[in-house]
Amino acid sequence: MTAVATRPPVKGAMKWWGWGEEGVAFSHEGKPGFGPFIKEHLGIDVEHTSARPPAFGELDVPEPNLGDDLRAALERAVGDAHVSDDSHDRVVHARGKSLRELIRQRRGDLGRVPDVIVRPGDETEVAEVLRAALDADAVVIPFGGGTSISGSLEAPAQETRTVISVDLERMDRLLAIDETSRLARVQAGVYGPHLEAQLNAQGWTFGHYPDSFTHSTLGGWIATRSSGMQSDRYGDIADATRGLRVVTPSGMLVTRPVPSTSTGPSVREMVLGSEGRLGIICEATVQVRRLPEERTILGYLFPDWAASVQAMNAIAASEAAPSVTRVADADETRFSFATKKGNSPLDSVKSKALGTYLKRRRGFDLDEMCLAFIGYEGPERFVAAQRKGVGRIVSAHGGVCIGASPGELYDQKKFDTPYIRDYLLDRGSLADVSETSAPWGTLPGLYAGARAAANGAFSALGVQGYLMCHLSHSYNAGACLYFTFAFAPSGTRDALEQYDVVKSAIQQAFVDHGGTLSHHHAVGTEHAPWLEQDISAPGVGMLRALFDGTDPGANLNPGKIV
Ligand SMILES: Cc1cc2nc3c(=O)[nH]c(=O)nc-3n(C[C@H](O)[C@H](O)[C@H](O)COP(=O)(O)OP(=O)(O)OC[C@H]3O[C@@H](n4cnc5c(N)ncnc54)[C@H](O)[C@@H]3O)c2cc1C
Repeated sequence: MTAVATRPPVKGAMKWWGWGEEGVAFSHEGKPGFGPFIKEHLGIDVEHTSARPPAFGELDVPEPNLGDDLRAALERAVGDAHVSDDSHDRVVHARGKSLRELIRQRRGDLGRVPDVIVRPGDETEVAEVLRAALDADAVVIPFGGGTSISGSLEAPAQETRTVISVDLERMDRLLAIDETSRLARVQAGVYGPHLEAQLNAQGWTFGHYPDSFTHSTLGGWIATRSSGMQSDRYGDIADATRGLRVVTPSGMLVTRPVPSTSTGPSVREMVLGSEGRLGIICEATVQVRRLPEERTILGYLFPDWAASVQAMNAIAASEAAPSVTRVADADETRFSFATKKGNSPLDSVKSKALGTYLKRRRGFDLDEMCLAFIGYEGPERFVAAQRKGVGRIVSAHGGVCIGASPGELYDQKKFDTPYIRDYLLDRGSLADVSETSAPWGTLPGLYAGARAAANGAFSALGVQGYLMCHLSHSYNAGACLYFTFAFAPSGTRDALEQYDVVKSAIQQAFVDHGGTLSHHHAVGTEHAPWLEQDISAPGVGMLRALFDGTDPGANLNPGKIV
């Protein structure tokens, strides 16, 4: 292994009330189609801001419940400078970024705020923190980047024990690269951009790019079974994570970074998706690849959703191996066009010439067309051959290539999208996502079922709603469907109750139509009501036994998953 010795800066916290960094926000300026689109589909005026989060000083942050003995033990473990009971720090660590959490934060309803934040610098310190917590019968919640979207970070409302948030941000180093095996040892608290920067400096990449990449960590990805947009090539985090070092109540759990093993039920798999319930992940050995010679994402248009899904299935079944396969349905395609800046290359799609060509020569109904992005990576000749092979499949399904500009734009802008939820909340509108995966044969029925369920929920609430979907993360046997919904709640019922009606309808449709409760957003508390329908009662029983056996005092992130 080649030792790597960089000490990167620790990253600042996100806004306590929303996504991302202070001072950065989504704006409709320069996007002439956006305001009219939102007016038409949600009935709201984007120029009118109706709700803003309160000032931090207006919040009623409860006093921390931290005894002197426990504080002293934590300070001995990590040093005084890394133990914090600062109110802002505690509120930032109280929750993740699900819509429910954002709404409650904005209401000043802070929930069970952790009493103290502890920032260990290495795995020995993590072990000492856990030992001190167990001795004091305190609750420990590991904290990565705080981007959880499924309620995986909040302590139970009635928790009377001291709650310790263990923030791994100081453990952010690439430790070593085994160039022969293409494996990298990495500390679990590293954020996405810093992991890539450290690897890229030596010519390597991990290739894991979730939409939350800028603010999420390796440990969080592992603990939630994350998936990134290039998963078709690099695999989901579950594929890319080979070895683990985890501090558990009974000592250091170590799994070897072997390519495959026959050691009974997989302990590595038990840690994947464990959401902090089994221990604190300190280090992972992950698969890395050499930086590709060439990387490109091309845009394509398909005549309709059915043809798009068939084309993605055919690509998955072929010898082609793209890094990204993503196709938006007609509703998401319209939204994409509406959010583009004036005079962007995508506008050309709407230009008369191309519109006429698509309609007259290709038989497109422009209201039904679907925008796809397909990515290619590798040596120049390999990329050229892949493009050719995919191009044949696209043509056979009535699609056309519209070049690299739309893909480049998507690639540059994808990490800005999470700011849109805060922008809409400022204007009294709710927007959120639900995603699933299912076999190819099941996807059309699931898509129709989820749409019917969401539209039924909008009608039952008497609200104007918008639902859109894209397919991403293709596998041989199936793919992920990712739905985004938005609506302005009516004044007759609490907004969160209305949100529950829509979100629950979509989630129920997933399990009713053969999908899973989530492809990559984890269970947390948001999706726990569907777990038994997804994995059966004996499956839930096994998970319970695993958590109870590993953590008999229920000290580790209690109340999540089951
Ligand atoms: C706008 C938005 C976009 C998103 N896009 C994607 C996407 O494209 N793909 C995707 O997969 N997810 C996505 N997510 C979900 C979220 O980013 C992932 O779940 C991510 O993996 C969480 O990482 P984190 O470091 O922020 O973990 P946190 O949110 O801090 O924690 C999540 C869970 O993991 C546990 N945990 C964290 N670190 C450790 C550790 N070291 N040891 C043990 N347990 C730990 C926590 O206790 C908690 O239960 C998105 C979320 C948002 C809000």
